[in-house]
Amino acid sequence: MNEQGLKKTLLSQEEISEIVTRLGSEITEHYKNSDKELIVIGLLRGSFVFMADLVREIKHPMITDFMTISSYGDGTESTGDVKIVMDLDESITDRDVLLVEDIIDTGNTFSKVIRLIEGRGPASLRICTLLSKPSRRQVEVDIDFCGIEIPDEFVCGYGLDFAQKFRNVPYIGIYEGPVD
Ligand code: 5GP
Ligand code: MG
Ligand code: MG
Repeated sequence: MNEQGLKKTLLSQEEISEIVTRLGSEITEHYKNSDKELIVIGLLRGSFVFMADLVREIKHPMITDFMTISSYGDGTESTGDVKIVMDLDESITDRDVLLVEDIIDTGNTFSKVIRLIEGRGPASLRICTLLSKPSRRQVEVDIDFCGIEIPDEFVCGYGLDFAQKFRNVPYIGIYEGPVD
């Protein structure tokens, strides 16, 4: 496995696991009085590793779906352009939706996704992100379930990439390599 450029660990596998377990309990608790099936939506590709671990910690009936939004290209700066590359298969109208994201940075991408989802008339919409970089925020995002706030560093691993690399790295590290 090539982990070059990801030497500084920000979150170990054990720390990630504790966070995911805690988020799973919070989400389970939140929906405990609902007998409705949840729809848990992962934003690809970054959330796929987190989503896989998280859904197994949520003790509530659910279905899962995915959506691919393009935002970044291969760089480390948000372009502000957002487009649906792959839409959901399922209808979310009148359903309890939990949107799962890997990281909320400027909030530009995510705020647009939220608007798009809200436009489809869900019964409720809750937001879960593993990581948040509050110091980078340009658009306010109401996060219901936040794993951990991190400093302004470009991180990779556990699903997060740089130019599609490092998604398979099992921990989260700071990317220190060349950015272009
Ligand atoms: P935002 O629109 O909030 O600025 O950024 C949204 C997307 O940018 C995230 O879902 C993620 O794909 C990417 N992103 C933001 N910060 C980072 C980071 O530190 N590392 C990686 N790998 N991706 C990031
Ligand atoms: Mg993402
Ligand atoms: Mg990316």
